[in-house]
Amino acid sequence: MESETTSHRGPLARYFSKHLEDIFVLFILVSVTLSHLFFHFQLSLLNLYYIPIMLAGYLLGKRLAILYAFFIVLLVWGLILSNEEAYLAFKGQFGFNTDLTLWGGFLILAGWAGSLSENLKEELRTSNLLREELAKDKENLKILNKRLVTVNRKLEEKVEKRTQELEQSNEELKKLSWTDPLTQLFNRRSCEERFKNEIARFKRTKEPFCIILGDLDHFKSINDTYGHNAGDYVLIEVANTLKEYSRKTDMVFRWGGEEFLFLLTGTGIGGGTVIGEKIRTKIEEKIFTYEQQTLPITMSLGISVYKDGQAMEDCIKEADANLYSAKQAGRNRLHPTQAPS
Ligand code: GH3
Ligand code: MG
Ligand code: MG
Repeated sequence: MESETTSHRGPLARYFSKHLEDIFVLFILVSVTLSHLFFHFQLSLLNLYYIPIMLAGYLLGKRLAILYAFFIVLLVWGLILSNEEAYLAFKGQFGFNTDLTLWGGFLILAGWAGSLSENLKEELRTSNLLREELAKDKENLKILNKRLVTVNRKLEEKVEKRTQELEQSNEELKKLSWTDPLTQLFNRRSCEERFKNEIARFKRTKEPFCIILGDLDHFKSINDTYGHNAGDYVLIEVANTLKEYSRKTDMVFRWGGEEFLFLLTGTGIGGGTVIGEKIRTKIEEKIFTYEQQTLPITMSLGISVYKDGQAMEDCIKEADANLYSAKQAGRNRLHPTQAPS
């Protein structure tokens, strides 16, 4: 509201309202000077010495100067307007040769000193209060900071724990997506992935590798005769045997129901035939006992060596064809039986 009214005023009016006190004091000083001139009928340095005193007093203790000057102007003009003698008589009453203005100067100086010390005290009090508030704020900030640090640490711990849990479940999910739940062997999806990697490696190194596709013989009749649980038991036991007797570099996957695929890295037809034969023998020799019954388990196998530029599917098809021929030839055998010379 105030700023609105101020803004409506003209620049001159604004200047006057802002410097009202200054203008008033100037007016009083001029009046006092004029009154003295008028009274003494001359302008001497002696008559004017009070002006700097008053000015100094005014600048340093404004309000006292105004009061004093106002008093002087009233007195002097009052006396001048009555008569000169009265003024002289008034001056004489002090009994010593001085001027009212000189006394006024001292008065103003004293007033200024008083108001200055008051101001100083006030400032000191304010700064003390501010210091106290600052100290309190500092203390509060410290407490807040401590709390923030604790909260932050807890949050970090939570985030870390959560991340670990997520990583762990991620790892488990990954493992699940690669693993066959019954046999714990790598599944078909994983097999295809590894097969492609192996082809890429072959392109770089030209190091041979081969695959063996194994299929349990007459497995349907195992299920039919001894029950599906017996069939599951056989699958688990076969998987364990395959894992147990394969080399560190070999990879074994559950390719389908009762079909297994071996990926033999760094192995040509010669080495592959030896391994295939070893697997076949181990399965044949292993005694599968389920609920006191011995189950006749054998495996037919077909081998295929990867050829340069061959598609993965074609290599598998070739192994499958060899497996079929092994079945046709009477099962429990590896085809081709002999490594081509
Ligand atoms: P072949 O010697 O010609 O291979 O005869 P097979 O009886 O083994 O062949 P077939 O493909 O006809 O039968 C495979 C059987 O394997 C059929 C299916 O019920 C069984 N099977 C597939 N997966 C599982 C499984 O996870 N658990 C059990 N218990 N049986 C399974
Ligand atoms: Mg089969
Ligand atoms: Mg079978």
